[in-house]
Amino acid sequence: MKSDTPSLEALLYQAMKRGILPITSLCIANCAFCSNRYNPPSCEVLDIGRRSLEEIKDSLPWLQAAPGPIVIGESITRINEGEPLSHPDFMEIVRLVREAYPDRDIKVTTNGMLLTSEMVDFLSDARVGLTVSLNSVSKRQVVMGDRDPEKTLAAIASLRGKVEFDGSIVALPFLTGYPDIERSVRFLKDSGATTVRLLLPGFSSRHPLYKAMPKDTWDRVREMATGLASRVKIPVLADPPELMDLDARVEFVLPNSPAARAGLLAGDHIVKVAGKDVFSRKDAFQRVYERENPVVTVFREGLIEFRVSKKRGASPGFITYEDLDPVEYLNWERASGVSKGRDAVVLTSRPAKKLIEAALKRRGLEARVVTVRSYFFGGNIQVAGLLTVRDFLAAYRRAFRGGDKPYSVTLPARAFDNWGRDLEGVHFRAFSQETGVPVILAG
Ligand code: SF4
Repeated sequence: MKSDTPSLEALLYQAMKRGILPITSLCIANCAFCSNRYNPPSCEVLDIGRRSLEEIKDSLPWLQAAPGPIVIGESITRINEGEPLSHPDFMEIVRLVREAYPDRDIKVTTNGMLLTSEMVDFLSDARVGLTVSLNSVSKRQVVMGDRDPEKTLAAIASLRGKVEFDGSIVALPFLTGYPDIERSVRFLKDSGATTVRLLLPGFSSRHPLYKAMPKDTWDRVREMATGLASRVKIPVLADPPELMDLDARVEFVLPNSPAARAGLLAGDHIVKVAGKDVFSRKDAFQRVYERENPVVTVFREGLIEFRVSKKRGASPGFITYEDLDPVEYLNWERASGVSKGRDAVVLTSRPAKKLIEAALKRRGLEARVVTVRSYFFGGNIQVAGLLTVRDFLAAYRRAFRGGDKPYSVTLPARAFDNWGRDLEGVHFRAFSQETGVPVILAG
């Protein structure tokens, strides 16, 4: 069932085509929540050690095709990302990237332990933005193995006014206490962070913290994110959120932004942009983003219209959670046969199920949407990107034992790499071979 493993060079090429520049897998932290040691043995995640400056330089043209920012140090590919600032040639790498791409946004993810005043000045001059994994303001030693947390915190605080950055916190209230989360958010705000992401921890069944985490942690942290945003006055987004509908709710309005000047408020629901109904949060944001001075109609105890004065392609300055892309969704409706009334089955993660059902309801269509449990990782792992063909087959067999074969089965595209392989190296076609039902990848 397993298909050939792509070469390291092919994996790097695919990552860089998406704007991600891996430079090292070496890490200087020792995070209590780290999953690296607890992956199932057949999980394909690659360690690249430390890439040489020459090799990185030669591969920089691969970043040309990426539409968004260039990101260094982000673990969203199958390559383990370490601490980028620990690479001895980090500054030279950034200089080369800046030289090759003078107008692109460059973003570096760091745990902050190696930030020095020289580094802060360098990042400021090179116009590099950061994502700072703070995780805890009072227990960094316990949570990350930070030997000198006071020094790290002082370095993070020195970013204010010099380097644009977002903060992230893996929420571990059962280790740090809930008050530490609030203190951490306040610290990030005072240090000049633009937004804060509260990451809900996902542990495989092998991870020692899985059993230590109370079941209500995710619900409590999600609730906390909403309260903190209004109390601390900084966008605080839970990740993954629990979105039950496609309503384009504004979570936060950045001060002095076009949206703030127009009068939009957190809690407003955007229902139209330029007079046309919006389909989803993503649709609402994209349409405001793309237009010049768009008229935005919101629901706030009745319908109100605002003109948001901004340039085409400029950020409006309001924040929503990310949900469904309307174009991708409509393409899926056609491909799956749903729009022609065919019997379509969607196998997906728990967080995505409600959204897909909401989209179908909005369009007056029907499909069978089934939540897939992760047997491969176990624990509380839910996200679609970590599901495998084995998980999809188990869910399908459980839900459709002995019934008629559907017209199509949709699987989440993010569970597969560019070669159609899941985290065990199994191709999605194996699902069709086992069930005899055509597979569509979407989302
Ligand atoms: S920084 Fe990332 S790779 Fe390093 S220990 Fe922490 S979670 Fe693991």
